[in-house]
Amino acid sequence: MDEERIIDPDTTVCSVVVPLYNEEEVIGETYKRLTAVMEGENIPYEIVMVNDGSRDATEELARAICAADKRVKLINFSRNFGHQTAITAGMDAAGGQCVVVIDADLQDPPEVIPEMLEKWRSGIDVVYGKRISREGETFFKKFTAKMFYRTLNKMTDVDIPVDTGDFRLIDRKVKDALLQVREHNRYVRGIVSWLGFKTAPVEFERQKRFAGTTKYPLKKMLKLAKDALLSFSFKPLKLATGTGIFLVCASIIYLIVALILGICGVLGTVGLMFVVLAVALLFQGITLITIGIQNEYMARMYDEARARPLYLIRDRVNFSD
Ligand code: UDP
Ligand code: MG
Repeated sequence: MDEERIIDPDTTVCSVVVPLYNEEEVIGETYKRLTAVMEGENIPYEIVMVNDGSRDATEELARAICAADKRVKLINFSRNFGHQTAITAGMDAAGGQCVVVIDADLQDPPEVIPEMLEKWRSGIDVVYGKRISREGETFFKKFTAKMFYRTLNKMTDVDIPVDTGDFRLIDRKVKDALLQVREHNRYVRGIVSWLGFKTAPVEFERQKRFAGTTKYPLKKMLKLAKDALLSFSFKPLKLATGTGIFLVCASIIYLIVALILGICGVLGTVGLMFVVLAVALLFQGITLITIGIQNEYMARMYDEARARPLYLIRDRVNFSD
């Protein structure tokens, strides 16, 4: 059974992190809708806006909102560092007992936040938004997203929920754990899954972008997919070993067959030519296996270099601290 969470009503209960990259067309509306939802909750909250090097009027508009509403905080990046880094900076600065990360374009409806808070109050540490439908997105985007989430799931050992973006609520202890993981080329939702803790979904319908266009062109999408794969799977490194073993086996089998045929005197000129090819492939296979062994060491070095914490503790009982 989940235990009811103990919440301190006198300090910030919830921080809402909003990454912004050239979002002048949506920032006003997003602030309005977020504020309406959060005020309805009657808890101390803050909105942490992270301006990820916007080159439009996002910064001026965000400053104006901060001047009028002290519950809104703003972090301005020196340049565009990317969405995943922006949400990390927002979490670094968040002071709440829980943190919600939400896109600025209202594709993640703020009206889902109360349901997330409800689950958090009942003891869940990670409440992630699961998209049951996606509105107003191109067939290409939906198709690639679907393929991506499923391929990623097959390639990795970590159970990363499918059809889930960064729209989620995490408890402070999950945030603290997440911030111990300082690896670059971050795939935040993957890291959150890797952390563990008590997790539950809330389902929502992904909305149409309120205004403006996507800030994730194909290039950034591919970069995110690459980061996800390379941060959570060593399978690409193991490709060399598999191919090498296959080549060695196939060429040895052929050489044995050719030897028998040769002894029986029925190995023709073509057969002889393939012997030369088989020998070449045998050595190629041996080279690939050697590269594969190097890759095994590289995988371990990469694992150490990322310096992820060895383990994370959800809670401790009967310790006097
Ligand atoms: N974003 C960001 N930095 C970037 C790209 C995007 O902070 O380099 C923000 C963007 O302002 C939005 C969120 O990340 O709040 C998601 O981006 P977008 O809605 O454009 O992506 P899509 O929903 O099309 O995948
Ligand atoms: Mg969007």
